Amino acid sequence: MTTPKRLHPTDPLPQSPYDLGIIGGGQLGWMLSIAAKQLGLRTLVLTDAPGSTATLVSDHLVGSYNSAGDLQALAQRCSTLTYEFENVDVQHLVALGESTPIHPSPRLLAIAQDRWLEKQHFESLGIPAGTYAPVDQHAPITRAAERTGLPAILKTRRFGYDGKGQWRLTSSDQIPAIQEQLGDTPAILEAQVPFDRELSIIGVRAKDGQCKFYPLFENHHVNGILDTSTAPAPNTAPLQPLAEQYLRTLLEHHQVVGVVTLELFECQGELIANECAPRVHNSGHLTIEAASTSQFENHVRAVCGLPLGDTNLNHAATMQNFVGTLPNVSELQRTPHCHVHDYKKAPRAARKLGHATTLKHSISE
Ligand code: AMP
Repeated sequence: MTTPKRLHPTDPLPQSPYDLGIIGGGQLGWMLSIAAKQLGLRTLVLTDAPGSTATLVSDHLVGSYNSAGDLQALAQRCSTLTYEFENVDVQHLVALGESTPIHPSPRLLAIAQDRWLEKQHFESLGIPAGTYAPVDQHAPITRAAERTGLPAILKTRRFGYDGKGQWRLTSSDQIPAIQEQLGDTPAILEAQVPFDRELSIIGVRAKDGQCKFYPLFENHHVNGILDTSTAPAPNTAPLQPLAEQYLRTLLEHHQVVGVVTLELFECQGELIANECAPRVHNSGHLTIEAASTSQFENHVRAVCGLPLGDTNLNHAATMQNFVGTLPNVSELQRTPHCHVHDYKKAPRAARKLGHATTLKHSISE
């Protein structure tokens, strides 16, 4: 494999454009770049950290995700753009989209960036979203709690991920201190859903409107961060069509091109939407080894105008995330049917450093 090149925004434009520009240089950009290479496509990544995971396999530009100039430098060098990182200024993306196609729709990204808009949008499309209320300068937590009751979860409307920017409220005594910490930051209070389990569904829509869905994944979180995903989730016969219906509504409403993930709570046989992500998702990492076509390949296929691949699973599988520390990788590599992915990131508390997918021989095992 040739060594990936680092380009500078002022370098002359390449003779032929890269097939795909990826905004975000983390592990999702790494896995997307590998999938693109396997399809014979060239990728250029925009990363804000030299040496980040995706730069190990893809040519890259180092810049800021919120600099119109750096995003433009990426767009000028690529035929199509996508993103693996959600906290990008949507106005910049809309502007880029006028000259270079960008998928999935920045309009859906704008909604997914704001938990309040997202919940309202789910409801407007007939997707159950639980009970929630806004928290802002006009509506303090106490008022919102009158609507949701307790226990409830307070989340900042924007920039929260992996349980960050969240507070669990079990008693009204906690409210003054949490209100003080929150300050003026707009937030949403969500009634705590007494879920039986957490599920996610990943779907992909092609440019011609064809949609395909992976089987539901069952997810377990530790401290708000995904710990394991198992596929296919057991006992989902009535839930799979319902989850597909919800996700299809989102994909079609926004005429999405690419992968979108919907995180769901299963509660007494019903599905309640927690959030959506217009991108490949951590719960779908096991599709690399377990599915006919991985979520990464299907995303690249969709955004680059290629036909979608099959989303069926050839194996049942479980994915284990490595958060904060990595286990003994070489030992895991010797374990049969275990596929280890090391993101080559410096260890840090709550940081995703890698994952391993263990395949079962058959779906029924
Ligand atoms: P989020 O950042 O919204 O994905 O939340 C992280 C995790 O917190 C979820 O995967 C759930 O385990 C838990 N959680 C978030 N919101 C709720 C809710 N309304 N009710 C119950 N658990 C929740």
